[in-house]
Amino acid sequence: MIKFGPSGADQAFYASGYNGTVEMPLYVKENGLDIFEYSFGKGVRLADTTADKIGKAFSENGIGISVHAPYFINFAGEDPMKLNSSFRDLFASLDSLKHLGGTRAVFHPGSPLKSDRKVAMDRLIANFTRFMDEFYQNGYQDRYVCAETMGKINQLGDVDEIIDIVNVADNVLPCIDFGHLNARTQGSLKTKDDFKRVIDRMIDGVGEEKVKKMHVHFSKIEYGKGGEVRHLTFEDTVFGPEFEPLAEVLVEYRLEPWILSESNGTQSLDAKTMKNLYFKHSNIK
Ligand SMILES: [Zn+2]
Repeated sequence: MIKFGPSGADQAFYASGYNGTVEMPLYVKENGLDIFEYSFGKGVRLADTTADKIGKAFSENGIGISVHAPYFINFAGEDPMKLNSSFRDLFASLDSLKHLGGTRAVFHPGSPLKSDRKVAMDRLIANFTRFMDEFYQNGYQDRYVCAETMGKINQLGDVDEIIDIVNVADNVLPCIDFGHLNARTQGSLKTKDDFKRVIDRMIDGVGEEKVKKMHVHFSKIEYGKGGEVRHLTFEDTVFGPEFEPLAEVLVEYRLEPWILSESNGTQSLDAKTMKNLYFKHSNIK
């Protein structure tokens, strides 16, 4: 089943008097949504006992949970110390994910820094292959890591790079961030065919099964020459992308992704807009 929800607590969550992630599943449910993404962007700092409590609240309410691993992960890096901490951060995210009762951990694959892009990408694949070997040795067979398409041109994570990363192992799924792709390509996602081209290429690259259950981040994003500048809300009429043409493709291809809104402060409201647009089109069919 396709699922929609907010990434992180938004303004309305606090304004409604809710407090703490343990109350988040009630809020998500009250808004007619299905999932929530917990951000470890600045580091994994969640005690196991707290994660267990949060996980219990989510499962009791039938709401799904995913996590976003720390932003400083870089599998393309040369510095062995930093590479070790990238391994540690993604494993810590997976461990918390287990306590939360979730199955998906999203991560940003890395940046070339001063290296040639191709050289950095080769290094990333070698390091990430080693990571996935440890992933299976450590018993994470029933979890997924989701490699995200990135918004800045100088980050690794265009569609083709994500295809190569996703093909490293069975338990790697694509996380297509359409706002990021639109930003790094200076606003290329406008029509239904524009979205179709991305999804067709992803299906060609990693197969239908992984695309069917892929992870999706969606928000409108301001961009400049280097790509992403900042996340906006659905109020924006300048930068895009619009969700409706993607909704039509999702319906036509019968895809069932987890779709998280990363809007700036209005995540639940915009997630609900996306859910309504999706069902508007799926009911026509
Ligand atoms: Zn991300």
